[in-house]
Amino acid sequence: MNQYFITRKNCPSCKSTKNRVIYSCSFLSSPIKEFLAGFYSPQGKIEFEYLSNATFILEECNDCGLVFQKEIPNEFLTGKLYEEWIDPEKNFERNLNSNDLFYRSKSAQEVMIIIAFFNVAASRLKILDFGMGWGKWCFMASAFGCNCYGVELSNSKSEYAKSRGIKVITYNEISDHNFDFINTDQVFEHIPEPFETLCHMKKSLKPKGVIRISVPDGRNIERRLKIEDWTAPIGSPNSLNPVSPLEHINCFNRESLIKMVWLAGFEIVQMPILLQLSYATNWSTPKNILKNLIYPVYRNIFSKGTDLYFRKKKDHK
Ligand SMILES: [Zn+2]
Repeated sequence: MNQYFITRKNCPSCKSTKNRVIYSCSFLSSPIKEFLAGFYSPQGKIEFEYLSNATFILEECNDCGLVFQKEIPNEFLTGKLYEEWIDPEKNFERNLNSNDLFYRSKSAQEVMIIIAFFNVAASRLKILDFGMGWGKWCFMASAFGCNCYGVELSNSKSEYAKSRGIKVITYNEISDHNFDFINTDQVFEHIPEPFETLCHMKKSLKPKGVIRISVPDGRNIERRLKIEDWTAPIGSPNSLNPVSPLEHINCFNRESLIKMVWLAGFEIVQMPILLQLSYATNWSTPKNILKNLIYPVYRNIFSKGTDLYFRKKKDHK
């Protein structure tokens, strides 16, 4: 066994031991080695010597349906991956010096929906962006007048956010606060212990508080694994991005996500369709217009997608 890896024996969501292997390949064998080289080289580098004798294993939990990577990088290798293999300077360029109007417009929509949902002055809303990256979402929530905090494991990212005036707190400091809303966007798929992390955040949520969990949608992942096209672009029907080796260590579908939050004492809360339509921001192309009109129905009426809002169940503290 490789010293830079940890083996997960139970499902990291529901703790079941009834899991079955659905995919397995050494990190140093084709096609995973080529995928890793192609994925990390443009972002910085990859040091394959840290991956010898480790295997990319995907297991599916028989109880909750979560698909998870069984061997995951330990703290040392995680630090290397996120702070060295992904070069902070290149990542900064990619995230902040690129044309990101679409992202900014979408986060404005998300912030407005939240303010409208709570129906109070924005300045009265205390918000946490968990896994804030370079702080872009926090900047938007602050621009609308919300009292916004951020948590980020990467030093370079949190230092930058601090220098731009974001209130950055540590993971352990979360429980010193009481938030109305916690945003987690593309975060839970990366977390070694998603259930425990969710329970930790729950302690800092006000009784009527809401948490948003948005993760890549891993529906049909077994079909995509059979096709095994590691070059399929993100968002395309055959994309394997939801199980991206080393990083997307938890692959949720809507059902497994709801199961995890239910076990942690949460229930789903729907943002009213009218509210989603009222604050839609990007009407720039026919495709975006259609998306703005259809997505709220897809989400609320057809119960699809893995971008969801939750509140504490009534019988929970
Ligand atoms: Zn499970």
